[in-house]
Amino acid sequence: MGLFLYIVAFVLLYILWQFKSLFFSSVRVLNPFHEDSRKTIREQVTDQKKRDEVLKNGFKPEKVPKDLDAIVIGSGIGGLSVAAILSKIGKKVLVLEQHDQGRGLLSYIHR
Ligand SMILES: Cc1cc2nc3c(=O)[nH]c(=O)nc-3n(C[C@H](O)[C@H](O)[C@H](O)COP(=O)(O)OP(=O)(O)OC[C@H]3O[C@@H](n4cnc5c(N)ncnc54)[C@H](O)[C@@H]3O)c2cc1C
Repeated sequence: MGLFLYIVAFVLLYILWQFKSLFFSSVRVLNPFHEDSRKTIREQVTDQKKRDEVLKNGFKPEKVPKDLDAIVIGSGIGGLSVAAILSKIGKKVLVLEQHDQGRGLLSYIHR
């Protein structure tokens, strides 16, 4: 009986090995850090009118794209990190923040 079980186990393992591509090839491991996507730091915009064009551009439901992959609630370091990683693997992400400034608790930390 013991030998029979060994043989069955061996045959099953052999079949699994032969057809492993059926089980594992469709699993694509997405590495968000596979390429260096760092960009040169852009000059800070100091013109308040130009800043307000972005900063005072409040939330409106009709502006939300229909084809989002993820919505992240809160722009603290946790939300921004997960949003950045998801977007690096090609996901379309929307970050929603209740306040008019991002960064969450990090806003309180100053040098
Ligand atoms: C004074 C101070 C000093 C600190 N010093 C350190 C330190 O030296 N080292 C360290 O590791 N950590 C430090 N911390 C802790 C660190 O800042 C926090 O742990 C970290 O910022 C938490 O990040 P978070 O993304 O989890 O949450 P948060 O930063 O709290 O972000 C959550 C965000 O979600 C938003 N939000 C919540 N609910 C909603 C909603 N319903 N809709 C829309 N938006 C929503 C909030 O407005 C906020 O912007 C410090 C914190 C403080 C306050």
